[in-house]
Amino acid sequence: MAGTTEVVIVGAGFAGVACARRLAAEPRARVTLVDRNGYHQFQPLLYQIATAELAPRDIRFDLHEMFARHASVRTRTGEVVAIDPHSPSVTFADDSMLAADVLVLGAGAQPNFFHTPGAEQHTVPLYSLTDAERVRGRILELFRDAAAKPELAADGALTFVVVGGGPTGVETAGALAEIVHDVMPHVYPHLAIAGARVILVDLGHTVLTAFSDDAHSYAVQQLTRRGVELRLGVSVKEVTPDGVTLSDGTTIKTRLVVWGGGQSAAPLASRSGLPQGRGGRIDVQPDLSVAGFPKVYALGDVANIPGADGEALPQLGSVAQQAGDWAAGNIIADLEGDRRQPFHYRDKGIMAMIGRKAAVAEIGPHRHELKGRFAFAAWLGVHAQLLANAGAEMRAFVSWLDDFYVRPAHRSAELLDPATIDRPRIRLEGTHDGTEHAG
Ligand SMILES: Cc1cc2nc3c(=O)[nH]c(=O)nc-3n(C[C@H](O)[C@H](O)[C@H](O)COP(=O)(O)OP(=O)(O)OC[C@H]3O[C@@H](n4cnc5c(N)ncnc54)[C@H](O)[C@@H]3O)c2cc1C
Repeated sequence: MAGTTEVVIVGAGFAGVACARRLAAEPRARVTLVDRNGYHQFQPLLYQIATAELAPRDIRFDLHEMFARHASVRTRTGEVVAIDPHSPSVTFADDSMLAADVLVLGAGAQPNFFHTPGAEQHTVPLYSLTDAERVRGRILELFRDAAAKPELAADGALTFVVVGGGPTGVETAGALAEIVHDVMPHVYPHLAIAGARVILVDLGHTVLTAFSDDAHSYAVQQLTRRGVELRLGVSVKEVTPDGVTLSDGTTIKTRLVVWGGGQSAAPLASRSGLPQGRGGRIDVQPDLSVAGFPKVYALGDVANIPGADGEALPQLGSVAQQAGDWAAGNIIADLEGDRRQPFHYRDKGIMAMIGRKAAVAEIGPHRHELKGRFAFAAWLGVHAQLLANAGAEMRAFVSWLDDFYVRPAHRSAELLDPATIDRPRIRLEGTHDGTEHAG
């Protein structure tokens, strides 16, 4: 189509999907949205997958279906291995290339193991559906094996370690405590699982350090009440297949360590030749493009996006989603011959859910503090909005919410069945590397 601007978006996370959605209504732009998976995954609900509260299909949204009604948006499944910011283009793992007039990078993050020996090999991070399925599979396997051979518990088979006391670690530890202490005793009533433990390790002297002191004590109290043991002020020195050694010299025998210890930019950032700052993230200008490369934008977790105070904004779904929409606005401004606008983040605040009806939230730019049910309600509101903005299905979220309130410790039998862990974890119906779908 003459006069059409080709926009290639790498990554169908919050940032990429929001950018494509806004551009879908722009007749002068044609978009190719590329992702290695062929689906959008809703990361904030990953630990519900890991602890069998939700099924993978509940948070996996097929990209082709999401954009089926938008003729100007194509989706392509494939691994991008290189980008050329000078004459914008991407190269796929199968060596095919895609040229662009405008390149948008929304490739997200990867876990940062901080060179901890054994961490990469013997822990499971929680960044993707595959990770979350691995955690669920491992929990079910360990309980199944301990039910057959109860003596395995003494070897750490029922000891679950979470590394990192930030929101991901705290939310994961809270959800693990529920499945380990409240759900599994009903599945294996004959198994003496009084010895089952959930341990949260963090180098800091409290959890949720980004929150207020009040929130720290509340989170510690709620985790402890749920049976999470806290090992604070110690770091992980080494992880082996059967244990974790801490900086105080102690060793915890365990067969499952979930790594929530930090993140850095997706590997594509270091292969892009673009300027990288803190966390290996690509530094961007206020209009979200990269200095010296006006036709290249970087958004969301792969970028350091300057906030109003000049500090980089946090790695949050709402930052990524708003940046995606904003970058699309600036691409349209170029088409109109208008001036690009500097990104303005509408701060929703920060929040973490610790467990059923227990959450902390600091709402809005003035950080109005909430705890308990009110914070949980705020968490629900923000996440429902993130889902709706992504154009994702709300049905599963609403049914999960119903279970969450009305049927404590309820899980679907399918998600607790160890037989399901041997099946292919994630089916990519009709999608494989290089597949392209016109919208
Ligand atoms: C467990 C967990 C819980 C979270 N909870 C919350 C929360 O409660 N609230 C909140 O606001 N935020 C939360 N976050 C953070 C939030 O999910 C991220 O900030 C957000 O997903 C970032 O969006 P993004 O679009 O930048 O990247 P992502 O959503 O990570 O998307 C990146 C996409 O790029 C694709 N990709 C990467 N590299 C390539 C490549 N080379 N080739 C092809 N495709 C590629 C990936 O497959 C992925 O789909 C959570 C994050 C995690 C991990």
